[in-house]
Amino acid sequence: MEKEQDVTVAKSAGFCPGVKRAIDKVLELEAAGKKPVYTIGPLIHNKQVTDMLAAKQITSIDRPQDAADKSGVLVIRAHGITPQFQQEVQSCGMEVVDATCPLVKHAQNIIDKFAQQGYHTVIVGDGGHAEVIGLLGYTQGKGVVVSGPEEAARLPHFDKVNVVSQTTQKESVFYETAEEVKKHADECQISNTICQPTKDRQKETIELAKSADLVIVVGGRHSANTARLALLCKGLAPAVLHVETESELEVQPVQRAKKIFITAGASTPNWVIDRVAARVREIRKPNAKSVLSGLFGKMWHFLVRNCFYTAFAAAALAYVCMRLEGVPTDGNLLAFAGLFVFALTAFNRAAEAEPGQNKRFLTLASLLAAAGAVGCAAPVGKGALALGIVFLLAGFAYPYRHLLKFQLLSLPGTKDVVTALGWAYACAFLPAYTHGMLLRKAAYLAVFYTVLLVFMRSVTLGFTSANKDLIIGRESFYKAFGMKKTKWAVTLVLLALTAALGTLLSLTWKPALVGMLLIGHLYTVFIVIYYYSKTSTRSVKDETLIDGQFFVLWALSGLAAYL
Ligand code: SF4
Repeated sequence: MEKEQDVTVAKSAGFCPGVKRAIDKVLELEAAGKKPVYTIGPLIHNKQVTDMLAAKQITSIDRPQDAADKSGVLVIRAHGITPQFQQEVQSCGMEVVDATCPLVKHAQNIIDKFAQQGYHTVIVGDGGHAEVIGLLGYTQGKGVVVSGPEEAARLPHFDKVNVVSQTTQKESVFYETAEEVKKHADECQISNTICQPTKDRQKETIELAKSADLVIVVGGRHSANTARLALLCKGLAPAVLHVETESELEVQPVQRAKKIFITAGASTPNWVIDRVAARVREIRKPNAKSVLSGLFGKMWHFLVRNCFYTAFAAAALAYVCMRLEGVPTDGNLLAFAGLFVFALTAFNRAAEAEPGQNKRFLTLASLLAAAGAVGCAAPVGKGALALGIVFLLAGFAYPYRHLLKFQLLSLPGTKDVVTALGWAYACAFLPAYTHGMLLRKAAYLAVFYTVLLVFMRSVTLGFTSANKDLIIGRESFYKAFGMKKTKWAVTLVLLALTAALGTLLSLTWKPALVGMLLIGHLYTVFIVIYYYSKTSTRSVKDETLIDGQFFVLWALSGLAAYL
């Protein structure tokens, strides 16, 4: 959880794994050129997300017959559907992708198992909710929905009954209802099917809402789980605000409250939570920023968000590689590294940006930088120039790999590996090649060092992107392999780097430089540990810190020259 100015943002706020998975699925289909994409019912109950999906021509329909283009793909949303409807969907002749959350499937399986043994089913949930309608389909016509113990009190007598829950139900309501159902049955099976992410969210909310003066619940008005979360908070905190976006925040209660707790439903994207949290902090700032610091902040934001900072970071890393390789500092090659990395980073960022988010500026700037990079590489030689152009073309094709059918670039984890190779070419390979050092051990070392460092940078940035629900596919290592394997991979990379630098130091190979790089390595270790324990979303500060490692290494290797 993030805490600042007595404003706490819940760690569990934002998309639950089931929603995140369903959204990733439709975005991957859209990116793979499988259009149009239809979802059976809205994917989630959040206007900001459904607007974003509509802009990508991902639309919601009620039945397969409503699809205007039968060559499209039908996606079953996270809430799931009834088995009867599933059959209808599967036999409609269109490609079908099932994005039912595995935890909803688990609830469906439990109902199915007991229904087959002759049990009646009582579902504790909202009668009209899509998930509950789907669950009812597994009860073999012997299911009933109740919202709580009061409705359960009016139930008839059952011989055998299985009590289950909508996955987002409040736990206390479920158990109170189950106790009531028990009174109406000879045999009562209680199956708590509230999913773990919901339990975690409720637990954290109960703990933190109690000590807050104001709870802000962020999420769609039509989202059942957000409404339930707001209701839960009303019983715990003196004041609760339910807002869809930051524009609905009321200034006075936000200013007056001593402690604010911000939470959100499972269908609220992190970028909406971020904006609400930023607005709350802005309202609570005691004094307006000085003109100078405001101006500096804006300028910094511009440099980072538009990839200029990353370009300088690449030039800084190229300098470190030149020191490792023992080649003279070459201004032309430093400029090449900066322009090359800028061109690729800005082009890919422009491709991901929504219209109006500097898309045109970034595209134009990246093309100019690519031309500049080619100009810098031209004097080096035809081979280096050709390789540079190949890398640039591959980088420019990357956002359109699905359309161009570059399957190789769509393999899991390729994004981070290709980024590392691109940087290694610009920062380490080209300086060694230019100065005839390509076959020296120092050149191998610099390439190895750059690949590992940039791979870690890319994985760490990918991790913060995932927290921000950015549209990243399985090409990102973190998304492809999950948190556990990513941690292992990065730990191994850190150990390999530490071992390599430690061995060089013990061999007294360039001891001043290697010693300084080992000190700089501590910063990298800190960054990695910090970002694996941080669950908030990527900000300018995060990019500053992550790419800042290259400036630290640059400063330390520059210092080593005077030792
Ligand atoms: S709330 Fe739980 S069950 Fe529902 S989609 Fe999210 S993770 Fe799955």
